[in-house]
Amino acid sequence: MAMQKTEALQGTHERRTQVCVIGSGPGGAVVAKELAMRGVDVIVLEAGPRLKASESTRDIGEFMQRFLSESGANAAVGNAFVTMLQAECVGGTSEINSAIFKRLPERILKEWIEDRQLKDLTVEEMDEHYEVLEDEMGMEPSQMPTQGEKNLLLKRGFERLGWDSHPLQRVVKGCKGASDCFTGCPTGVKQTMASTYILRAVTNGADLYPLCRATHLRIEHGRACGVEADILHPETRKPQGRLIVHADAVVCSGGVFWSPLLLQRAKIRNARIGKNLRAHLGVMAMGFFDQAVYPWYGAIQGWGSNLMEKRGLVMETLWAPPAVFAGRLPGVGHELQERIKNFKHCTTIATKARGCSTGLVREGTGGKPMPFFWIRQEDVDETAFGLKSCIDALFASGAREVYAGCHGVPKVMRDPSQSELLLTKRFRPTSFQFVATHLFGTCAMGGDPRQSVVDSWCESHDIRDLYVCDASILPTGTVSNPQETIMAFSRRAALEMAERYAA
Ligand SMILES: Cc1cc2nc3c(=O)[nH]c(=O)nc-3n(C[C@H](O)[C@H](O)[C@H](O)COP(=O)(O)OP(=O)(O)OC[C@H]3O[C@@H](n4cnc5c(N)ncnc54)[C@H](O)[C@@H]3O)c2cc1C
Repeated sequence: MAMQKTEALQGTHERRTQVCVIGSGPGGAVVAKELAMRGVDVIVLEAGPRLKASESTRDIGEFMQRFLSESGANAAVGNAFVTMLQAECVGGTSEINSAIFKRLPERILKEWIEDRQLKDLTVEEMDEHYEVLEDEMGMEPSQMPTQGEKNLLLKRGFERLGWDSHPLQRVVKGCKGASDCFTGCPTGVKQTMASTYILRAVTNGADLYPLCRATHLRIEHGRACGVEADILHPETRKPQGRLIVHADAVVCSGGVFWSPLLLQRAKIRNARIGKNLRAHLGVMAMGFFDQAVYPWYGAIQGWGSNLMEKRGLVMETLWAPPAVFAGRLPGVGHELQERIKNFKHCTTIATKARGCSTGLVREGTGGKPMPFFWIRQEDVDETAFGLKSCIDALFASGAREVYAGCHGVPKVMRDPSQSELLLTKRFRPTSFQFVATHLFGTCAMGGDPRQSVVDSWCESHDIRDLYVCDASILPTGTVSNPQETIMAFSRRAALEMAERYAA
């Protein structure tokens, strides 16, 4: 049992296993590891390739083409442009995320228990899963020596404003402060799924098939019994072979787009599949300082404030390769050139709104998932409020110029009082450049089969031996960064599955 060399596989192959897991992100990786460690025979199918530390590069175009879903160009159709980012590689989006590790706020779990009729969930039980995960993943606060100036500036800004703030809890064992999490940790110390749970799954006997995209679920007599998949060519990503996996159970962990698509293709009669797409709506502000900040040094997201957490807004420092931000710089020609030249004087801060807006996922052209999303005015207003706070934090940190990236306010702000405009003007969904990195809800869990897709154990209400373990089961935004929550629900489901499927 091992990592399979799928690049050598052509023609049609058949395998038999107890549990077939589709996707190797935080949802799938936890299930694979927990089952394999309990002696269950597991096959993991992953659409993307392996990402090695040596392949991390600040050449963002090349990186996104190779390791992000739709080359990072996934955007929802609706009343605004919302980029929706997900990785497509072994380890899923954990390979490109910032490794912030946070529990679901208790009040949101209680809200789900009440509103979604998840009566068999308790705060205490979830806490037990969180504790195990935090220990296994090596969670710790971002360390001061590797904060770097960009995080420390914002820390001082928060302090000057009298806002509560703290180092972000992350899962990086000995962060070197390379600030390159988004393009794969170059030092290999980030605790991604590939380097932790997938590795443990494989060393405990699971078989991993990278470059293998599940296309159809096999269902017979109301039970899931297998998966059909394309084996993809490593360069063209076109099918070069076919893999049929016969299984006692199937776990969909392909994320918020692919999991509902596979269920829809299987013609499962549940009107909620693919509905209820939710997103934390992210926007950011950039600040330029007189002094050099060298933002490419220091934890990528090392500091944050929970000041507005109860309101559903978080604020976190942020960095990504300069090419990602260059398109957001104001000006053209010489003015733009100067700003690009001065990148070392810049840093950024992001805010995310929990969001009440919803959308859906359907099969689009070429058999790919197509997201639709409509932003409500409440979320526009919350975004404006969050963005104002980011601008205030940058000015308080000493920024000379701030770029809000928002249509309807000055492109370049030099006076802190200009942030008031964010509260006094009325904005539209298209006023902002939204990026959604936290997505939820398209196979939502709940106690009522007419209102939800899976139960609290992540099993389909409609098909036996079919599970969904990924972000799509979370019924609403989490406010907190969601990876730990996804892992906790997947762990809970996996322990139950182990009882059922262990020989
Ligand atoms: C830039 C960025 C930064 C983030 N930072 C943080 C952070 O710091 N902390 C945090 O908690 N969260 C963060 N997130 C969010 C977090 O990473 C995701 O919520 C989480 O990874 C989702 O887990 P998942 O298992 O649902 O799906 P994913 O991680 O997206 O994994 C799904 C996997 O399934 C594979 N797959 C899909 N379809 C198929 C198929 N048909 N067959 C086979 N394989 C398939 C995909 O290739 C992918 O590898 C961030 C996200 C992004 C984009």
